[in-house]
Amino acid sequence: LTEKVMKVANLPCITTDGRAIEILLNAGLSEGFEHSGNLGALSIGLYRTEIPFMDRSCFPSEQEQTQLYRRVLNAFPKHAVTMRTLDVGGDKSLPYFPITEDNPFLGWRGIRITLDHPEIFLVQIRAMLRANQGIGNLEIMLPMISNIEEVDEATRLINQAYFELKAELKTQLLEELVKDLYDKDLSIELEHKAEAISQQLMKPRVGIMLEVPSVIFQLPELAKRVDFFSVGSNDLTQYLLAVDRNNSQVANLYDSFHPAVLRALYAIAQESAQLLVPISLCGELASTPAGALLLLAMGYDKLSMNSHNVPRIKWVIRHVSFEQAQDILSHTLTLSSTNDVHDYLNEQLETLG
Ligand code: PEP
Ligand code: MG
Repeated sequence: LTEKVMKVANLPCITTDGRAIEILLNAGLSEGFEHSGNLGALSIGLYRTEIPFMDRSCFPSEQEQTQLYRRVLNAFPKHAVTMRTLDVGGDKSLPYFPITEDNPFLGWRGIRITLDHPEIFLVQIRAMLRANQGIGNLEIMLPMISNIEEVDEATRLINQAYFELKAELKTQLLEELVKDLYDKDLSIELEHKAEAISQQLMKPRVGIMLEVPSVIFQLPELAKRVDFFSVGSNDLTQYLLAVDRNNSQVANLYDSFHPAVLRALYAIAQESAQLLVPISLCGELASTPAGALLLLAMGYDKLSMNSHNVPRIKWVIRHVSFEQAQDILSHTLTLSSTNDVHDYLNEQLETLG
């Protein structure tokens, strides 16, 4: 990375006219976050929990997951850290959980698997909640949501994990305290103390990924059920355009700058603002200079990306005004072909330097 780009790492991420944007990290491996704070990212906007599940021979235990998640939450203790529940299937497989099907990206993937296997989901949620004890910065994000029933069922399981864990913690604490108990009159006081300690088990904010096109048309219903939305532009592009994101044969058709994708992203931002639901974006689009400009103009004020793109995107945002970005967006939204979009945006980026 060039020196001029690296220099912005410790400077605030604001446009020349003062609009603040949060730059967050997409992470999955510990190298992805443990030394990334000094690149200038505020926190983790997408922790892909399936990544540490992949390089193993069996599911990690609740205890192993708790330790891992605690490290992740502790990397940015002062800011919300967004952890996504297991998103396997599609192109991501676990050697110890084989899936064979004809159309994996349209098949058993993400939340569909974990709702069919609540025992996997509950262990993961319990580990996240335990890891969050005493820190309190956990946010849980659900992948591949395509209808409201999935949100309701996942919420029910999250609540179940929360209340069960809370009851267990309270019992455990009481047992420990009672061991030292001589004076029976103290028992009420101790119970209060145990209750107070178990209160430390905080209820996290829960959000969903917007990456299956159906959810674009159910934002009001979804808004009532969750605390935030995060757009997964990688999958949203794949599913809107019906183009496999990993198939080189059709790679020229896979493009997040397709006018339909951009218009969908704009509609999502507008409606989420009306519904007062915080919105971020965590696909690859956010890590391209042109994409970041358009997204910022649309109203996405949290962009999550791989650590190596953070300085460059920060530099771009610091060298444009919100007004300029909005002008660029207005014109872009009038264009009807992907090529025209690219030509226009390249031209604009060149004039920005
Ligand atoms: C996405 O789909 O845009 C996303 C961020 O998730 P993943 O790339 O892990 O599917
Ligand atoms: Mg995705």
